[in-house]
Amino acid sequence: MHPTDFTLAGALAALNEGAISAEELTRAHVAAVEALNPKLNAFITTTSEKALDAARASDARRARGDAGPLEGIPLAIKDLFCTEGVRTTAGSKILGNFIPPYESTVTAQLKRDGAVFLGKANLDEFAMGSSNLTSAYRGVLNPWQRKDDPAARLVPGGSSGGSAAAVAARMALGATGTDTGGSIRQPAAFCGITGIKPTYGRCSRFGIVAFASSLDQAGPFARTVEDCAILLRSMAGHDPKDSTSAAQPVPDFAAACARSVKGMRIGVPREYRLDGMPAEIEKLWRQGLDWLRDAGAEIVDISLPHTKYALPTYYIVAPAEASSNLARYDGVRFGLRVAEKDSDLRDLYESTRAEGFGAEVRRRIMIGTYVLSAGYYDAYYLKAQKIRALIASDFDAAWGKVDAIVTPATPSAAFAEGENADDPVKMYLNDVFTVTANLAGLPGLALPTGLDHQGLPLGLQVIGRAFDEETVFAVGAALERAADFKAVPAMRAGA
Ligand code: GLN
Repeated sequence: MHPTDFTLAGALAALNEGAISAEELTRAHVAAVEALNPKLNAFITTTSEKALDAARASDARRARGDAGPLEGIPLAIKDLFCTEGVRTTAGSKILGNFIPPYESTVTAQLKRDGAVFLGKANLDEFAMGSSNLTSAYRGVLNPWQRKDDPAARLVPGGSSGGSAAAVAARMALGATGTDTGGSIRQPAAFCGITGIKPTYGRCSRFGIVAFASSLDQAGPFARTVEDCAILLRSMAGHDPKDSTSAAQPVPDFAAACARSVKGMRIGVPREYRLDGMPAEIEKLWRQGLDWLRDAGAEIVDISLPHTKYALPTYYIVAPAEASSNLARYDGVRFGLRVAEKDSDLRDLYESTRAEGFGAEVRRRIMIGTYVLSAGYYDAYYLKAQKIRALIASDFDAAWGKVDAIVTPATPSAAFAEGENADDPVKMYLNDVFTVTANLAGLPGLALPTGLDHQGLPLGLQVIGRAFDEETVFAVGAALERAADFKAVPAMRAGA
């Protein structure tokens, strides 16, 4: 087997048995990155030399009997996680020269457990987008192709598009992502892989470039549910450096993947049945529920009545927080500085921010500033916060009746560059099934369960109670076993 075809769990087993070394495994992935990245543009920065050094150090630790739980596993890191000494751009020109002097907690924990970093994965600028096309470092090509139109340039989804494409194309065994409104689950679905946004507070946000602090969560991508579970265990845990990280024990998520769903109650929210939803998505959803019923789960119709307000609520709360978080990029303390001769401080701010931020980021800053401004605060921001509480209480009521909720992950398969581009609101519709979990702080997992008529992957989403990722993993693993999704993208290492 080609080393890039291992699952993460399979690679760990092979490393433990001595069937492969971390250096060999990393070399194979570095070669895949070098071969594919010029086409896919999944990485903004590659760190091949550092990765090979880390792999050799990993082999030495293993030889000493000192192997961590991710010892020797090559990963892609979304370029939103600060990595000490390695440029971290957030997909923005304004951070184009930013080399953090410190490491994010999530990446520090992955390193502590022995992981090897291949480089920094491309993303939408400041994680704002659903196509990776807002990146100042160009878009990412989805490694999947339409049957009837293989030349169409499909997007990988966003904002963690580079992470998802890298894992799908076998350039990495896993990756980190962040999800504020769907940025792990939507690209996972578009790229035919698995990703989970854990409960808000499960992973530390320390050292992750902030977009919307009350919504942002880190999470893993991988090609199987179990692999995500293994990664999440290393990423999660309380961090004194992030006051919103939760002092909750981190369970053995991988063990939960083997739990039976027999007797579990699975909720089907009626409000997620959208008018005009493609029949293929409807069929995928029904199929998933049938599989769970066959595995002994009980399917229960539920109502989440405030769902229709979720997107407008998200697109007030997220830009509001973003406008405040992004105020720090002023040309003085971080990154880019654009200063004319004789310019005063105000000119410095204005020219730096005008030059440094792309169109979507500027749009969000303007919306956010508007909804927070005197006179509009009560009408928009405060109202949105109230609706957010109602959306969360819809879920609280549902947990009295069900143990997990299953929905489609996205309203469509991957679209092509240019499609959806004319209208930002159309782009925002991508998040219709995912933003609710962020607004309510709940864990959500996306996994591929079928293909559309063009041979493109389609995904389902599993939402669970706060801090009950174990049930989410159990349901996800049951769907994975039933779906037996074996399709692979046209562009991948070894193909
Ligand atoms: N697509 C959503 C947005 O543009 C979600 C982004 C995210 O989760 N980071 O805001």
